[in-house]
Amino acid sequence: MLPGEAVLIELNVAIKNKCYPKSEQAVLAQLDFTVKSGEFVAIIGPSGCGKSTLLNMISGLESCSGQHISYNETAYQESFANNEDRQQLGYIFQQPRLMPWLTVRENIELILQPDQFDKVDDLLAQVGLANEGEYFPSQLSGGMQRRVSIARAFAINPQLLLLDEPFNSLDAPTAARLRQLLINLCEQRGTTVVFVTHDLQEAVYLADRIIFMSDSPSTIVHQSIVDLPRPRKESGVAELAWQAQLLLKYPGLLAGRIDE
Ligand code: ADP
Repeated sequence: MLPGEAVLIELNVAIKNKCYPKSEQAVLAQLDFTVKSGEFVAIIGPSGCGKSTLLNMISGLESCSGQHISYNETAYQESFANNEDRQQLGYIFQQPRLMPWLTVRENIELILQPDQFDKVDDLLAQVGLANEGEYFPSQLSGGMQRRVSIARAFAINPQLLLLDEPFNSLDAPTAARLRQLLINLCEQRGTTVVFVTHDLQEAVYLADRIIFMSDSPSTIVHQSIVDLPRPRKESGVAELAWQAQLLLKYPGLLAGRIDE
């Protein structure tokens, strides 16, 4: 492999009876799935079913003791012991989580080595913030702050990107612009993506495959390959028809049920 060449990431997840300390009830009962290199997988499930828990386990923020999560067949613990692998993982949270006392530029530089600082201007231009590098987060709109968090996640050129309802509570045009930005960045870089959402229309627009979870203690109730050509339209006829057909067949799917 050439220096700097992207390592494509395949993610394997096998979780059984994930419990939080002091709780006897499992949050995640059983989840087994693989995300292929460069695949965009959306995860949909009812509130509280454990979607954030799942992302936190994949990212290493939450304990994976006794569970199996691996990247390219490297066991979880080994890959995180290796600092380079940690660099390959980006996480965009529900809130932008910017440091309020740092400028936009400094928020991105925070996760880079000094010899990588020259990337920042290009990243800011890609997310449409070329002139806002010296602003503080409080001087930006909510949508602009999310763009900074996207630029920060892409600054390390992640091969695996985790997103937890990142466009929640944004106005529709801003969310649409940010989804397009995400598609462009992921396509340019061949990023492997796990995207948590409760919005089926968003999932159909973005994803190659959608995994539907049940209520907690959760299992996978259904998986759908979104076999629609790209580029897609958020409210395109084919996209809306695909969504309607799925819900006609499985009316309880968004509530985590397949048996209706
Ligand atoms: P979702 O993202 O699907 O809304 P979460 O993963 O945030 O669900 O939460 C799933 C369940 O796990 C909830 O009942 C929540 O209260 C519980 N939970 C989440 N984090 C913790 C924690 N750190 N300690 C104990 N329970 C937790």
